[in-house]
Formats: sequence, C-alpha cells, structure tokens
Amino acid sequence: MKIGTPKEVEKGEARVAMTPDSARALQKLGYECMIQSGAGDAAGFADSAYEEAGVTVVKTADTLWKNADIIAKVRPPRETEVKKLTEGKLLISFFWPAQNEELMKQAADSGASVIAMDMVPRISRAQKMDALSSMANIAGYRAVIEAGNNFGRFFTGQITAAGKVPPARVLVVGAGVAGLAAIGTSTSLGAVTYAFDVRPEVAEQVESMGAEFVYLDFEEAAEDGAESGGYAKPSSPEFREAQLAKFRELAPDIDIVITTALIPNREAPELWTEDMVKAMKPGSVIVDLAAEKGGNCKLTVMDEKIVTDNGVTIIGYTDFPSRMATQSSTLYATNIRHLMTDLTPEKDGQTNHNMEDDVIRGATIAHAKEVTFPPPPPKVK
Ligand code: NAD
Repeated sequence: MKIGTPKEVEKGEARVAMTPDSARALQKLGYECMIQSGAGDAAGFADSAYEEAGVTVVKTADTLWKNADIIAKVRPPRETEVKKLTEGKLLISFFWPAQNEELMKQAADSGASVIAMDMVPRISRAQKMDALSSMANIAGYRAVIEAGNNFGRFFTGQITAAGKVPPARVLVVGAGVAGLAAIGTSTSLGAVTYAFDVRPEVAEQVESMGAEFVYLDFEEAAEDGAESGGYAKPSSPEFREAQLAKFRELAPDIDIVITTALIPNREAPELWTEDMVKAMKPGSVIVDLAAEKGGNCKLTVMDEKIVTDNGVTIIGYTDFPSRMATQSSTLYATNIRHLMTDLTPEKDGQTNHNMEDDVIRGATIAHAKEVTFPPPPPKVK
C-alpha cells in the first residue's frame, strides 16, 4: 500500500507528518511512501532529502490524495480534503472529533477510515503514539524560551564584577505534560521555579525536578483535584478562592508565569486575574498555553502578544509546536510511524485495522461507513 503526506493547508502551519527518517521506517514495514512537493520545506526537510530516502515526490495535493491509500497529515482535514476521501482509504491526523462532528460524519459516509491522533488512548502501551504528549512537551519547552526572549533579565542568578543579578522567579500553573516540560526547562536555565496543580499527586514530580510545589493554605487543601485518567476535575468554589488568594500573594514577586491549566472538554479555568497582572512588576511575562481554550489569564488575546499598561507582556500564541517545526515534525512523524507498526503486524505493507485492539479502536473515529466516536473505555491501563 502507499502512504502519502500532503502539504499542510492551514495558514502558518509549518509541521509535516512524514520525515525522511520516518519514511525509511515505513518502507521497512513494506509501504511505498509519497510526499507532496514542498510539504517538508518549512520544517527543514527538502524534497531532495525525501527522494534520497526513497520517497516519491508528487507535484499536487490532488495527485497525492488520489494515489495514496493512507494519508498522514498533522492538522484536522478541511472539508475540501474530506471530499477527497474514498472507500478503503485511511486518514491519520489530529481531528478533535467532538468539535468536528459534521466532518467526521462526512468522512464516515465516504467509506474511508479515520484515525484521530488526539484520540489515541493515554495508556502505557500507547505512549509511543501519543502525539498530544509529544506536542505538549514541545509547547512547554517553547513557552519558557518565548518567555525568556521577552524578559529583560537572566534566568539564573549571577555574581559578576558588574554587579549581583538575582535569579528570575517563574511560576508554572498546571503540571501536566506541558507544565512539567516548562518546569524542567525553567529549572535547567537556573530560574527559581514554583509550580501548582490541583492534582496533589504531582507535587513529588514537581519537587524531583528542582521546583517548589505551591501548597494552599486551605483546610481541604488535600482535596483531590484528579478525575479519572489522570485529568483534572473542576475545583470547588472554596478551593478556587484559596488558589486565587495564593496567586494574589505571589504575583508581585513572580517575574514569569506559564499557565497550562486545562480540564477536558471545558473552557480553560480563569486563574490569573486582572488584578494579579496589575500587581506584577513591569517587564514581567505571562505565557498562556491555554489560550486556545479561552486562556487561564483574563487578559490573554489568542494568537497575540500584548503589553499591558503596567508593562507586563502576555503571550497567547497557540502554535508553539509549529514554531519548532523540525523537532515537532520529527516527533509527530515518529508517533505516526509507531501507529503504523501496530497497524501492520505482518510488516507486509498491508494495514490490518483491528478494531479489537484497544489503541486502534480508541483512536478510530470512522470505519466501515460508521462513525465510531466516542469509543468504549479501554480495557487495559
Ligand atoms: P491537561 O493538558 O488536560 O491539563 C494540564 C494540567 O492542568 C493538568 O495537570 C491538570 O491537573 C492541571 N489543572 C487543571 N485545572 C487546574 C487548576 N485550576 N489549577 C491548576 N492546575 C490545573 O493535562 P495533560 O498534560 O494532558 O495530562 C493530564 C494527565 O494525563 C496527567 O496525569 C498525565 O500524567 C496523564 N498522561 C498519561 C499518559 C499515558 O499514560 N500515556 C500520557 C500523557 C499524559
């Protein structure tokens, strides 16, 4: 069978779902690989590098969609792309099925199968295909780098002949995958790093990375903010008040805030209020990784960088992985390659879409002319 990757159509998207290295691995599974000319340019992979890896470079998206049996891409398909799906084809991409129901139905009606990378179950066996985590890891890292780029001082403290420099003080709100990556980056750059999460079990992880976990002065502070699957649940009003009181106390002394707090299928909780922004020193920076879901900071503007009247920079970009397109494409293409390995048990270049397999079933949102979302809960952890 042939697996092909078109150029991403979303404006500004620099990632690509196949790299020369992933193509080599896919060929070892028995597949022929195809790429649209220029698809890897923005991620640093030229047509010639694909050709050297044995990939056929085709001129147009139409040729690619027509000739490939499996189409691997990054962003959810546009309607024009779904229209190119025909019976027997397999599309693999991010899809956000709960937000794209009509598109999912159209894809199912075409007779093609769709695997949504954002639906890969978060169980141990599937970690190698977990593109949400690989992209969140990059976003967390890049958030700190972006903050540093907009901050007028060092992260680490220094004693120099020209004077003593205090270390930057960084607060990371939400210690999931992106938050932990931000904490690791911040501590390795030498900043004094604090972190908070509603799930108390992450305190140990935060501390093992050299950051300080922020505990709440609250009777039920041990309230478990964890829901099933390791995700957070909405906090009680009392808990939220205690959390905001703590942040208010910290705001004047914090130089950089990285917010990553999310609750599945909800708007992001508002945790950094206007008065907290006002209390921060001029030159401070907030990077809001929850901007796409409404933002954790009241003043965040999605996809923009703003500077408040009191000189605080607030960054609401939603394309951090795309800003590191070589790295994110390499990891995403590897996630896809691992998925293809599971779909190709005989390594004969033929997919076996085994709907009895927890991971494949969980990620499949359209199959055999049926919408197969939402999936049943996975049987194994
Ligand atoms: P996420 O992006 O949904 O949320 C980010 C973080 O925000 C979470 O840690 C959450 O607890 C926190 N949060 C929510 N509300 C908050 C609030 N009011 N204040 C402070 N923090 C708040 O989470 P994620 O990064 O996708 O990871 C969530 C969980 O999934 C973690 O437990 C992680 O270990 C687990 N996980 C498991 C696997 C696997 O087993 N394959 C892979 C990835 C993640």
